[in-house]
Amino acid sequence: MHTQDYIALEEQYGAHNYHPLDVVVDHAEGVWVWDIDGRQYLDCLSAYSALNQGHRHPAILAALLAQAQRVTLTSRAFRNDQLPLLYQELNAMTGYDMALPMNSGAEAVETALKLARKWAYTVKGVPRGQAEIIVAGGNFHGRTITIISFSSEPAYRDPFGPFTPGFVSVPYGEAAALEAAITPNTAAILLEPIQGEAGVVVPPAGYLRATAEIARRHNVLLLADEIQTGLGRTGRLLACDHEQVRPDAVILGKALGGGVYPVSAVLADQPLLGLFRPGEHGSTFGGNPLGAAVARAALAVIRDEKLAERAAQLGEYFQERLAEIPSRHVKEVRGKGLLIGVELKPEAGGARRFCEALGQRGLLCKETHDHVIRFAPPLVIDQATIDWALGPIAEVLAMN
Ligand SMILES: *Cc1c(COP(=O)(O)O)cnc(C)c1O
Repeated sequence: MHTQDYIALEEQYGAHNYHPLDVVVDHAEGVWVWDIDGRQYLDCLSAYSALNQGHRHPAILAALLAQAQRVTLTSRAFRNDQLPLLYQELNAMTGYDMALPMNSGAEAVETALKLARKWAYTVKGVPRGQAEIIVAGGNFHGRTITIISFSSEPAYRDPFGPFTPGFVSVPYGEAAALEAAITPNTAAILLEPIQGEAGVVVPPAGYLRATAEIARRHNVLLLADEIQTGLGRTGRLLACDHEQVRPDAVILGKALGGGVYPVSAVLADQPLLGLFRPGEHGSTFGGNPLGAAVARAALAVIRDEKLAERAAQLGEYFQERLAEIPSRHVKEVRGKGLLIGVELKPEAGGARRFCEALGQRGLLCKETHDHVIRFAPPLVIDQATIDWALGPIAEVLAMN
């Protein structure tokens, strides 16, 4: 079978809810992937930061295979010997008392929203059914109906109503607007420390600090969605660490599964996460021993290979070199660590054609929000590989 045959099958039998580049990958290792014709590509998307540890990291694969030989699923009706160790290791790494494991990022966001509502009713004293949660314009927190209910992106929402009430949206990056939206019924503020899907939008310095201070002063929870920014991507373990902010709850996903298995979690201290009672929340696969073993290995790689430090150093290098590329198309290079966005001017005709041209030159990345090319390679990348990547990037940015 040839590339076009796979594409034709996918288009005929699969729902068209994505618009992938026409590369048919059949194997991968580290920062590299290969298509069915043996062409090699540098992965500069990392599955939206789910592959911080690189493709098929040997330690993570070993954990997956060893656990698959023992037990894969118990459901939470019974206990297993991996989940308690994952809890303990998450606590040691992040300092949060407790965790609640789920599978996808969206499920973990839903979990945090339920937790905030329960806290509002049972601790803060908000009248039942009246809790409000403040979110930011341009947010991306997943695809469930509740989550798209507070999206500002028409393409995510448009034909999918009716929506879940109880959310108030304010402009991202403006602490004053956030504070003005707080009412006695406000349960929580939900934010991404950097908005990845919105086009790698970095808020003004001090925004997270100010937000945390406002939340504390008004007795409102701060929930940080670190699904994309967390686990080393921005040069710190959590992006909130850049401003020494400790949110009331942190939502992790993506790289928590080491690129091999979906694992997500909500982290919080006991007075908050301890509010859930048996039967109030759950997931058949959440906390399963296979996922827990994988997540333990995924965390160990981030810690032992100092991936956050790598992302800080190499990200600064990559961003500086990108900013030096002369191009009439580039409006701005921005980001933190190895979460980098190159925003093109509106006249450039969209980022898609640049991503396609990069693909032809052996570099895989994806446009976000029409005008931004995101560069987010696995954090195990080295400087020589970044230097190589700058060649095709400069070529493509010099196109007409
Ligand atoms: C990817 C992402 C999600 C959703 O995660 P899924 O695993 O796709 O459900 C939520 N929030 C942010 C910031 C993300 O990047």
